[in-house]
Amino acid sequence: MKKIGITTTVPVEILIAAGYQPIDLNNVLVGDPEPERLITIAERAGFPLNCCSWIKGIYGVCLDRGIQDVICVTSGDCSNTIMLREVLKLKGITAMAFAYPERPDKEPMDYALEKLAAQLGTTLEAAERVKEELKTARNLALKLDELTWKDSKAGGGENHLWLVSASDFNGDYRKYQIELQELIDVCEKRQPYPANETRLAYIGVPAVFARELYPFIEKQGARVVFNEVQRQFTMPEPGQSLAEQYSNYTYPYSIQERITDIKTEIKRRHIDGVIHYVQAFCHRGIGDIVFREAIDLPVLTLEGNADFFLNTHAKTRIEAFLDMIQRRRIKPGAVSRARRNVVK
Ligand code: SF4
Repeated sequence: MKKIGITTTVPVEILIAAGYQPIDLNNVLVGDPEPERLITIAERAGFPLNCCSWIKGIYGVCLDRGIQDVICVTSGDCSNTIMLREVLKLKGITAMAFAYPERPDKEPMDYALEKLAAQLGTTLEAAERVKEELKTARNLALKLDELTWKDSKAGGGENHLWLVSASDFNGDYRKYQIELQELIDVCEKRQPYPANETRLAYIGVPAVFARELYPFIEKQGARVVFNEVQRQFTMPEPGQSLAEQYSNYTYPYSIQERITDIKTEIKRRHIDGVIHYVQAFCHRGIGDIVFREAIDLPVLTLEGNADFFLNTHAKTRIEAFLDMIQRRRIKPGAVSRARRNVVK
């Protein structure tokens, strides 16, 4: 199977229908034993120091792994990808564009999907059949999500890892299904996490330091029970067609679609506080202003750059944030006195 790199979640059903093996380049970057080396490849090629590490890392992965075909999402994700695509083309890589429509409407989405299918030499009908095939894998990811927030038997890091991997199913959805089912069987036999733990939501793009973030939070008596973007990668609202599925996917559209989803899940999952992760030099960081206004809970904004580990500064801020939430829970009277969004 020919590999095709993706710069973020795309309608993967079309890629599979066209006979490609999708590879999420972001997941390859963070899974690399030396991700800094991949960023250096981009900086040596001339990418500016103040360019987001994900973009530089994606470039490094393409060159390091000899990826020959890439789908670059030029609308609905990151404007930097437009220029990344140009540089990839310069290096002889076939870098195709996929643009999510401006609004999550079925008609323009149908058009975008048809166009991608034609570009890859397949049809939307064939991709709809793949949608059916992927149902089991997607449902298992949602089952793990339920084991996280409802049954308290899965960790925040496990949730992050398996849900974020739904962008490409680690390149093999059948293997993904088998391995995830094994994990679910293990989780089901576990004792639940303590009922008095602090329940957190994680919103924003996946963190460069995710590997250390989730275990650190759990050591402090808290757990992430909602990973917003990662959950969206599983396509929790599949609808009746691919056009509906990718219109219900909130990440590419206005922040308001995301806020509606976040607020619903915060309520359903009994969340005590929110971590908003922002990537250095990312336009999405500005959205922090909107999230803080919309979310009626304490919000901690964490920024990452090319630090694939959790530094002491971030650890101290997380500890202080959790301590503040835990104090508020012990002294209910303090809740009315405390201003919301107190930690910046
Ligand atoms: S983190 Fe922001 S700047 Fe970086 S690739 Fe994602 S959307 Fe683009």
